[in-house]
Amino acid sequence: MIHSVAIIGAGISGLTAGCALRKYGFEVDIFERSDSITEFGAGITLSRNATSLLRKIDLYDELERSSYKPQGSFIRHYKTAKDIAYVDFTKDFLTANRRDVVRIFSERFIDMGGRLHLSQDIESLDVESGQFFSSGKDSYSADLVLACDGIKSTIRDGEFDVSEPTFTNYIAWRGVVDESNFPQFSGNDQVNIYHGPGGHVVHYPIGNENKINFVAIETGENWEEESWKKEGNKKDLLHAFDDWNITIKEVFSSVSSVYKWGIFERRVPKKITKGRVILLGDAAHPMVPFLGQGGCLAIEDAFTLAYLVNHLKGDLDKIKDSYQKLRRTRGSLIQQRSNFQGKFNHLSNPLLMGLRNRAVKLLVKPNIENIHSYDALKEISKL
Ligand SMILES: Cc1cc2nc3c(=O)[nH]c(=O)nc-3n(C[C@H](O)[C@H](O)[C@H](O)COP(=O)(O)OP(=O)(O)OC[C@H]3O[C@@H](n4cnc5c(N)ncnc54)[C@H](O)[C@@H]3O)c2cc1C
Repeated sequence: MIHSVAIIGAGISGLTAGCALRKYGFEVDIFERSDSITEFGAGITLSRNATSLLRKIDLYDELERSSYKPQGSFIRHYKTAKDIAYVDFTKDFLTANRRDVVRIFSERFIDMGGRLHLSQDIESLDVESGQFFSSGKDSYSADLVLACDGIKSTIRDGEFDVSEPTFTNYIAWRGVVDESNFPQFSGNDQVNIYHGPGGHVVHYPIGNENKINFVAIETGENWEEESWKKEGNKKDLLHAFDDWNITIKEVFSSVSSVYKWGIFERRVPKKITKGRVILLGDAAHPMVPFLGQGGCLAIEDAFTLAYLVNHLKGDLDKIKDSYQKLRRTRGSLIQQRSNFQGKFNHLSNPLLMGLRNRAVKLLVKPNIENIHSYDALKEISKL
């Protein structure tokens, strides 16, 4: 039987799993290495494959109140900003500030009786017994341990595979702009995506405080920083997108600070469960962010796992087997599709770019629908 669950990492996957398991009445402790639950003030899009699950664990309503709800997405030409295609979001598509997401989820977890332990950097773990140790040498154990510690997962290291995160040659520039400084044009209150040669740009309103988030991706040579994000120079950003349309350049000019992220990837291990340990979110299947699905899949993982733990009455072997089948397949597929999307968005050959734009017109709607219509409960019922 499973009574106690320990979760390592209080990001989106850990907090969602914590809330879902508390809803079913399990004893849950989350161990987080930081001394507070804070996130970088940047945007995140959450599509209905994730938000429909947040509804089921009572996390949706408050998040919706703190979020923006775009009606759809324009895909635009990088040079002219003219729209190539428009996709309606059927429902429940939210664009939020990450700070609000982790604040709402962590407050809810504590309200539900979950225990959150901060400044607990978990350094080692015995996968068979479920016993683990923090850097302060405190020891803990649980019937089930969820590794929700992100792409650089310490728990995954050595126990699941030996692969390391590697730099993808993509660099993401990010900024948040006050709506009052943002260029005015029809559709600027929706999600806007520009595909260009060697780069792409996305911007959308976030939260309920009249802010707009943008992400600009360029292909870079190397990334030497220890930190995966650092403050960048606006001039360098403008220079990198020099021959793009004037609106994009106005968007970049309207921001006070820009940040740069090196985008890393790590392959999905063959086994995402071992002994008493299960990998969730970026610890299991980190992906380049070009479909906006890393956080959504973290939520799908968390919901699926909690549902299986409850409905399979704590039979650990069955839980692991079902989770492995469902989540490794989905994580690998979306990881591959995200990689493909990066190559597609950045095509530079003019002939191929023309063909790409035609393909976008025809295929963007069914492609997006195919990802957003994933129904975690339906997939569980097929097992
Ligand atoms: C530029 C960019 C844009 C993105 N945009 C989107 C988007 O629009 N939509 C979307 O769905 N996804 C998006 N993503 C992906 C999304 O951010 C991630 O997939 C998601 O945050 C993963 O959540 P997680 O909980 O698995 O890991 P993380 O968010 O990395 O959380 C891991 C947590 O574990 C803690 N931790 C780590 N090691 C330890 C340890 N040893 N002991 C204790 N605690 C530990 C960390 O401090 C952290 O709090 C984007 C990513 C990037 C880089």
